[in-house]
Amino acid sequence: MKCFDCPRRCGVDRSKAKGFCNEGEKIRVAKVIENFAWEEPCISGEKGALAIFFSGCNLRCSFCQNYEISHVGKGEEFSPDEFREFLLSFDLEKFSSIDLITPTHFSSALIAALDGCRLPLPVVWNSSGYEAPAMIERLDKIVDVFLPDFKYYSDQNGQAFSKAGDYFAVASEAVKKMRQLRPVDKFENGLLVRGLLIRHLLLPGQVRDSMAVLDFIAQNLKGSMVSLMSQFTPQKFGPHRKVLPLEYKALLAHAEKLGLDSGYFQDISAADENFVPEF
Ligand code: SF4
Repeated sequence: MKCFDCPRRCGVDRSKAKGFCNEGEKIRVAKVIENFAWEEPCISGEKGALAIFFSGCNLRCSFCQNYEISHVGKGEEFSPDEFREFLLSFDLEKFSSIDLITPTHFSSALIAALDGCRLPLPVVWNSSGYEAPAMIERLDKIVDVFLPDFKYYSDQNGQAFSKAGDYFAVASEAVKKMRQLRPVDKFENGLLVRGLLIRHLLLPGQVRDSMAVLDFIAQNLKGSMVSLMSQFTPQKFGPHRKVLPLEYKALLAHAEKLGLDSGYFQDISAADENFVPEF
C-alpha cells in the first residue's frame, strides 16, 4: 500500500521502497528506556515513562539530538501484532506513561497495533508536529496526551533545518486539531492523563521566530500549556553554537507577557551534552 502517513506524502509502497522517513512498513524500535525521567514532570510522573524511541523520522532536522536513530536508522522490527505483544510484555504498572517518541511515520501501523488495546496508563504522542490533521483525528482513539514540539514559524527555518518549507502551515493546523480533540487538560495526581502539552525548543539566533510561535499559540490555542526548552546542543550540522542566556531570557519574558505561564520553563543550564541520549 502506498504511504501517505505524513505530510511528505511520498506515496511509496513501504514493503518495497523507503520514503523520506527512511523506514519500511514494519514498526522499528531503536531503543526502550524504562522509568524515563527526562520528560516534563506531568509526563514522567513519579515512576518515569516507558520511553519507546522509534527509528527514522519524517522531519529529520539537521540539529537532531537523536541523529543516530532518526537519520541512520537501527533497531528491532515489529508487525502491529508483535508490537502490541511487545508493549504488553512490560509490567506497565511500573511506569507513569507510555511515551511514543517520534512515532509519526508509523502512525497507521501504531493505530493497527493499539486500537482497542485497553492500556492502564496514558499513551503520549511525542512528535514533531509535522502531521496531517486527518491523521491526528485517526490517532484520537489510541492517544491520550498529545506532546508536539512546535518548531518554527518561518518557512525559511522549516526549509533550512528540516527540508519542510511548509512546516508552520502544516504544524499549526495539526496542533489546532490536537487542541480541538483535547479541549481540556485532565490531571490525576499531577500526571497529565488526557490533554495537550506544546513544546518549543529555542534555536540559537532564532528568538524572533520563537516569539512568533508563542504569539500564534497565545492567539489560537488559548489556555494551552507550553514547555519552553533551552537544551539545544550543537550537532554535526548547524546551528553551531548554544543558545545564549540573553536569548532565552528574552523568550521567557515574551512568554510571560503573553500569559503563557501554566507550563514548564527549562533552565538554561540544560544546554549541555548530558541531555543528548546515547543510542
Ligand atoms: S511516513 Fe515516511 S514514507 Fe510515508 S509519507 Fe511520511 S515520510 Fe513518506
